[in-house]
Amino acid sequence: MDNENKYKILKVGLAVDIDETLSWTIGHWVEKMMAKFGNPENLSVKEIIEKYRYTQNVPYWQSQEALAWMMAKVNSNDVQKELPLIEEASICLERINKLIPIAAYLTIRPETVLAGTKHWLDKHNFPVAPIICRPITVDHNDGNKWKAGVLEKLYPQVAGIIDDNPKLLNFLSADYRGKIFLYDHHDNFGRTNVIPCRNWLEVYKNIKNVFSNFNL
Ligand SMILES: [Mg+2]
Repeated sequence: MDNENKYKILKVGLAVDIDETLSWTIGHWVEKMMAKFGNPENLSVKEIIEKYRYTQNVPYWQSQEALAWMMAKVNSNDVQKELPLIEEASICLERINKLIPIAAYLTIRPETVLAGTKHWLDKHNFPVAPIICRPITVDHNDGNKWKAGVLEKLYPQVAGIIDDNPKLLNFLSADYRGKIFLYDHHDNFGRTNVIPCRNWLEVYKNIKNVFSNFNL
């Protein structure tokens, strides 16, 4: 089976990440983790995110109990349905979809939450496209490696991705030619195919620039 069929990609276009790119997942988790597992530094949700960016970097939420609780919730379809939306993402992705189609949603969320994820994307009227989730046979810690592999296999049909996580770059080979629109960053991490975008408006403008000759 070729990759296009395996992933049911129907259009040439871009992939989009979900967590911290379309949904403010971290805000949801930080609020829950603070209430349940403590906030010894007495920080606000915003301060914790600024300091640690991801919950896995918060030192006092690494107990077995906290990790097990979070893992159960990460695997819950109901939790996905209620995650907060990044408003500008919804507006800008609709505009981007008219410049170059959204070919797929590519996320390291496990396949077990596909239904909840689809519900959430539909609820917020995101462009319809296949959702590629991490197979349960791939460990959560290998998520970015897996995602980089999928991107490489799908290139050039999938011409790149909009993603917030620069860890993805560690696993993309030096000759990968797809474009990485790195949302919520201002550094290109030394790669010419990485386009930093401070916000969603910049994502839109940069995509317009890079794909100005794209034939819909
Ligand atoms: Mg993300």
